[in-house]
Amino acid sequence: MQAALATLQTAALDAIDSAADEAALREIEVDYLGRKGQLTEILRGLKDLSPEEKGKIGKLANEIKTELSEKIEAKARLLVSARFERLAETEWIDPTAPGQYAARGTLHPITQLTREAERIMTSLGFTMATGPEVEDDWHCFTALNIPADHPARDAQDTLFLTGMDDRVLRTQTSAVQIRWMERYSPPFRIAVAGRVFRKDDFDASHSPMFHQLEGLVVDKNISLAHMKAVMEEVVRKLVDPKAKFRFRTSYFPFVEPGLEVDMSCTVCEGRGCPVCKRTGWVEIVGCGLVHPQVLRNVKLDPDEWSGFAFGFGIDRMVMLRHRMTDMRQLFENDLRFLKQF
Ligand SMILES: [Zn+2]
Repeated sequence: MQAALATLQTAALDAIDSAADEAALREIEVDYLGRKGQLTEILRGLKDLSPEEKGKIGKLANEIKTELSEKIEAKARLLVSARFERLAETEWIDPTAPGQYAARGTLHPITQLTREAERIMTSLGFTMATGPEVEDDWHCFTALNIPADHPARDAQDTLFLTGMDDRVLRTQTSAVQIRWMERYSPPFRIAVAGRVFRKDDFDASHSPMFHQLEGLVVDKNISLAHMKAVMEEVVRKLVDPKAKFRFRTSYFPFVEPGLEVDMSCTVCEGRGCPVCKRTGWVEIVGCGLVHPQVLRNVKLDPDEWSGFAFGFGIDRMVMLRHRMTDMRQLFENDLRFLKQF
């Protein structure tokens, strides 16, 4: 029995010494000291021995058990620290090394043009104004001289919000003009850039959501000459420095007289292409002198005050600036397209 214990002790110490990792060490511990381990088996056999041998062998076996436990703990500590040393070798980082930069994005071409428009408008003395995209009937239509039965409401193909009394998605940024004029006293010189919504089809030159750049001036003795100068400056700075213009009379309920302005097509440079419907000209803005009724609606006297207003299509300006042929490219979020800007 004593000899068996000695053999077991030597074998166990060798095994502990040569354990390669923590898992191997745990197996050795179970093999010798576990409930069915080799040393446990020997201790279980003590009951068959004489009382005095039982005391002697029992004492020896317990000493070996303590020794093995201590050796296992010591070896475990060694293995753990060795593991951390290896990690320190393989997984170190240098906090002083230069960082890795993520690829930098660019602003969407509509955002770029809008921001430039804001810079240009403010440099011309305009204040940028904003208003809600969910509008009420008064600000979007009635105050702009478009009464309930007016055919212009059809033309605008309004998106009504069900369950919200007379609320609509604004069809034009002109609603902000009314909000501003109701709140402040003239003279006014404001610009609005924002989203508007109409039930348009989604095709090469239409989208149910698009962007407008609006301008409004109300002062004494304002004429079409003032309007022409401002609009030409804006288009030449934003779209094409060589742009030519064509002013045509038109009709909008909130201006009198009303005009539409075409600019020379940048895509074909006037020779004719699908974008300009082979005319060499593209309509970019509706405008005119503020209708006297609109002034009266915001409690201004049209004999004292006069003004002009215009509303550019920002999306179309972006198309003409970059000579694009399909407006849908602006909204498809194709990175190959967007990365060009
Ligand atoms: Zn063209």
